[in-house]
Amino acid sequence: MNEGNFGEFGGSYVPEGLQTVLDDLANQFNKYKDDPDFNADFKYYLKEYVGRENPLTYAENLTEYVGGAKIYLKREDLNHTGAHKINNTIGQILLAKRMGATRIIAETGAGQHGVATATACAMFKIPCTIYMGTEDIKRQALNVFRMELLGAKVVPVNEGQGRLKEAVDAALNELVENYETTFYLLGSAVGPHPFPSMVRHFQSIISEEARRQILDKEGKLPKAVVACVGGGSNAIGAFANFIDDADVRLIGVEPIEAASISKGVPAILHGFKCLTLLDEAGNPSETNSIAAGLDYPGVGPEHSYLSETGRAEYVQASGADALEAFQLLSKIEGIIPALESAHAVFYAMKLAKELSPEDSIIVNLSGRGDKDVSQVFDMLKK
Ligand SMILES: *Cc1c(COP(=O)(O)O)cnc(C)c1O
Repeated sequence: MNEGNFGEFGGSYVPEGLQTVLDDLANQFNKYKDDPDFNADFKYYLKEYVGRENPLTYAENLTEYVGGAKIYLKREDLNHTGAHKINNTIGQILLAKRMGATRIIAETGAGQHGVATATACAMFKIPCTIYMGTEDIKRQALNVFRMELLGAKVVPVNEGQGRLKEAVDAALNELVENYETTFYLLGSAVGPHPFPSMVRHFQSIISEEARRQILDKEGKLPKAVVACVGGGSNAIGAFANFIDDADVRLIGVEPIEAASISKGVPAILHGFKCLTLLDEAGNPSETNSIAAGLDYPGVGPEHSYLSETGRAEYVQASGADALEAFQLLSKIEGIIPALESAHAVFYAMKLAKELSPEDSIIVNLSGRGDKDVSQVFDMLKK
């Protein structure tokens, strides 16, 4: 398999100018990813700034309520900024600094990746520009303000529907124009090579810890690892160190309202090939998940491949399912999960019931739900 190809998926379908920039990025990433100094720096910030390692919490009440396999929660919700995204942001900024970049650009849809990027840029004292569609800016005013508080410049993108897709295009254009000074910090395990491999690398700290933690607590591997899938970065990070453990089931949970793997077809989106939801005209579909972070018509190329080869399974949960799990976990464990993560919690409960109390399941709790509380308030009032 060529570097950056996952079966027929992945690759790099971009104009020549951008390809030159991405080739250089791939070389630099390959050079630093095994560099002891680089990795010591990465571990240092993960510990001192992000707050790792985070716990693998035994959800005793939930387990008792469901009846069946023990449910463990990998607590990415306890990271600084409240989700897994910061792992990747720190890794890429450290690479950007090694490459001599003096500014960072990023795209954001709902604003979560923009906030994680703005946060890390503030700490590393690097100027930061976030591209965001005008429609998204309207819907996510509070996150725009948050990014500005953190010192980032938010640039509205007016083209097309004024959403995530156009924001990515604007960031890629900007990268080609200013690549000598600028680093594009991409937020999920998507995009042209080397982004999916790079994001996976930085997020795989999740399963590096979780594998060690479960062996510590249970003395054996879990029956399954369950994670929600938007672009697929928290899921690939949670799967990575279990992929060679053939007996561990890897289960990605997509929202029914944006189920790229279950309902998509191979297509090229944002310069890479993946399973994509297309409308009748052949354009990426509008999606409508209640979880903003899962609302993307494509998915990481490695997930497309893991699905095709059968190594991972992909299932669906609806907005109503997620809302149910959101309330239940809050009430019986005192943990308010992100609506994204609640999709995974819902499916894990279903699966736990089918398994024996001797078994365990790890659910990657990708983020905390404080950001979703007012949305849930509005939904429940109706
Ligand atoms: C952004 C986000 C996701 C979805 O992104 P992936 O790349 O699929 O992980 C999931 N959970 C939370 C809390 C998020 O912020």
